[in-house]
Amino acid sequence: MSSLQKAYGALKAVDGISFSVSQGQVFSLLGPNGAGKTTTIEILEGLRERDGGDVKVLGLDPWKQGYQLHKKIGVIPQGFKFVDYATPKEAIRYYADLFGVKADPEAILKKVILEESANVYFTRLSGGQKQKVGLALSLVNDPQLVFLDEPTTGLDPQARRAVWDVIRNLKSEDRCVLLTTHYLDEAQELADQVAIMNHGKIIAAGTPDQIIDQHGSGKPGESLEDVFVKLVGEEGRSDTGESVASAPRRMF
Ligand code: ATP
Repeated sequence: MSSLQKAYGALKAVDGISFSVSQGQVFSLLGPNGAGKTTTIEILEGLRERDGGDVKVLGLDPWKQGYQLHKKIGVIPQGFKFVDYATPKEAIRYYADLFGVKADPEAILKKVILEESANVYFTRLSGGQKQKVGLALSLVNDPQLVFLDEPTTGLDPQARRAVWDVIRNLKSEDRCVLLTTHYLDEAQELADQVAIMNHGKIIAAGTPDQIIDQHGSGKPGESLEDVFVKLVGEEGRSDTGESVASAPRRMF
């Protein structure tokens, strides 16, 4: 993707950004509220038309070839929910019917480490398990690229780590994951590449270590979150003074 642009009236929400993601990589797009992440991701998912720039996702133009693209990508929306009295197995069968594909519920549930809850009603699952159902559904069409929008928001530390294991599984299968999160430790732990956006532009990009090296203050033990807060300054802080990056809020 190069020189992507999108304006809403006079506001340049995405102002000429470029990045690329390789197969088998976890790519994390970070930034404070209003940075332009949602707009970027929706353009990549084929849900929003761009004003300018060259964009190819899995070799397809997401706007002009959205129908083909949607067969190849997996999306887990933020705050995923499902029918209370349906089981994970039933949910997978339902999605497979919608997509018109054959799916093996057991195999998919194994991938997301949920096989033991295959026949438990959604309403009875823990928050982490519910999120794993969302992950399972995003895999029904065997996608090469998965968009995960804040997959661990609101989960306890143990459940977050369980979702991390699933993301690592996806990576080990050579799938590409586009991850958005307000948990900077998560991006640091999982992402091969990170781009930090602010005011529609990418202000830092690279591996987490490269970003810390290039933009940090040089103090030992500095984290990606330290560097993020330094880079985006007060815009990276919420009204409570808490780093927005670590607050469980909608990113896109
Ligand atoms: P957040 O973390 O709050 O979701 P974001 O980084 O995802 O923020 P976007 O949602 O892409 O940012 O918004 C970028 C800018 O564009 C913001 O100033 C936002 O108010 C504005 N914006 C987004 N969608 C629209 C729209 N449909 N019409 C007008 N302005 C919009």
